[in-house]
Amino acid sequence: MAGILFIISAPSGSGKSTLVSELRKQVTGVDFSISWTTRQPRGSEQNGREYYFTDREEFERMIAAGEFLEHAEVFGNYYGTSRRSLDEARRLGHDLILDIDVQGALQVRKTMAEAVSIFVMPPNPKVLRTRLRNRSRAEGQVNEAELYRRLSEASKEIENYGEYSYILVNDILDRAVAQLEAIVLAERFYRNGEPIAFRSGRVLEVAAACRQSNSQERLKPVLEAFGILNPSGQQQLNFDDDPDDEQDSPE
Ligand code: ADP
Ligand code: 5GP
Repeated sequence: MAGILFIISAPSGSGKSTLVSELRKQVTGVDFSISWTTRQPRGSEQNGREYYFTDREEFERMIAAGEFLEHAEVFGNYYGTSRRSLDEARRLGHDLILDIDVQGALQVRKTMAEAVSIFVMPPNPKVLRTRLRNRSRAEGQVNEAELYRRLSEASKEIENYGEYSYILVNDILDRAVAQLEAIVLAERFYRNGEPIAFRSGRVLEVAAACRQSNSQERLKPVLEAFGILNPSGQQQLNFDDDPDDEQDSPE
């Protein structure tokens, strides 16, 4: 049975690593592609677990040797997916998840049109800021400049949502995890005829509701909050001054 390639993109801090790790607790046969990066490890990150950490010289040597399926510069660092991850998942017949940015997703879609792409959105900019800040605090390193840089890129990344097959709004974590699981099971059912053991009708319904083509109403408030559906056509981020004012939904 052929494995399915899933691409998942989101503004930094939206919760995609959390969603992917929760998904992998529920669904077997889904591998995660460990990317290469030149950024420094954060908090408890370990080489070979979250990323393979390397330097620019080595990364550029790997680019020249054609070792990457895709690579991009994001927030001033290189990130890339090695071809080896894909080969290994194919050999095992496993599905593979790539957690990559919008530039990388574009490169992969060009060569692998069969990939299933999923875009994750935070519900609004204030929640995104709270999540980024909480994550930095938990990692013991709040870097205001880096935080601001990631926040200010968010709406540009969200503008690309129309290129993705499915959209998740990660508001309540359990619901977003169930939606991601439904997408994976529905794609296995449609592509490989793999039966869905439990509540199959419900799973297909949940996945269908997350299709980008069925998501316009659900997305409207999110796009407005990020200034993407502003009638004047101007980008207008709705942050306010107090960084501690927003309660995020509990995990
Ligand atoms: P990303 O991988 O998209 O950069 P993370 O998965 O690291 O984001 O999540 C950023 C922060 O937000 C983490 O501290 C995580 O625990 C938290 N988080 C993720 N999803 C939710 C959610 N639905 N509700 C509240 N907090 C969340
Ligand atoms: P972070 O530094 O927060 O781990 O990741 C920053 C951004 O880089 C995120 O949007 C993430 O999806 C993206 N990213 C992580 N790995 C890769 C990769 O291999 N290729 C590309 N193009 N982007 C990646």
